[in-house]
Amino acid sequence: MLARTGSVATVRGMDPVLRDVAIGTKGFMPPDEGDALFAAAIDAARRVPGRPFVEVGSYCGRSTVWLGAAARACGTVVHAVDHHGGSEENQEGWEWHDPSLVDAATGRIDTLPHFRATIARAGLGDVVREAIGESTAVAARLTGAASLVFVDGGHGRDVARADWLAWSPKVAPGGLLAIHDVFEDPADGGQAPFEEIHQPAVRAGFVEVSRCGSLRVLLAPA
Ligand code: SAH
Ligand code: MG
Repeated sequence: MLARTGSVATVRGMDPVLRDVAIGTKGFMPPDEGDALFAAAIDAARRVPGRPFVEVGSYCGRSTVWLGAAARACGTVVHAVDHHGGSEENQEGWEWHDPSLVDAATGRIDTLPHFRATIARAGLGDVVREAIGESTAVAARLTGAASLVFVDGGHGRDVARADWLAWSPKVAPGGLLAIHDVFEDPADGGQAPFEEIHQPAVRAGFVEVSRCGSLRVLLAPA
């Protein structure tokens, strides 16, 4: 995993200051899984140099900081895709609703100001590209392949299926697809990321290369 050039400290492990920013940011990425995501991104850039990373589902930018740190270490960028209106489970009356993310003027969830504040706090504005919009619409307008696509967007079945269809063709041959909230056992959590993204990927010839918590990292066929 070590690159021959560049500082060992930035490639082997994440800049501890950035890691603290990530851990101090609202969101759903456990630290060990964030570290695994960082390692996967470094690995992806080594496998497919010169291509960007994509994150589908940024929320307040928590996982984005791990990916932005990796992008900086590898001399690439990360496209951070989100409509910033929150997933179904983030809406009022649902389990993962956070009233502090509601925009006073519209009464609706708006994570964009929080995302921007996180990226500014991390000083990652030069490597994090905002891609605001519906996931499938952003996929349609983003040209070229990515060395890593990290899917952590909506967890409804239709949304997960649409993300698989829209984003799997964007993973460069020999690149990596990372999927969050994959639970093989229904007792552990919702099945959409497993059944609508992970399993279709395996059927399409992607091979799982690592896992941490609910994060699965799969290698795209060459
Ligand atoms: N990766 C984040 C958590 C993402 S939560 C972290 O580390 O904390 C899921 C995000 O996906 C939400 O911000 C929601 O707005 C976004 N999302 C859900 N469905 C989407 C869609 N169809 N298009 C774009 N963004 C979507
Ligand atoms: Mg998640």
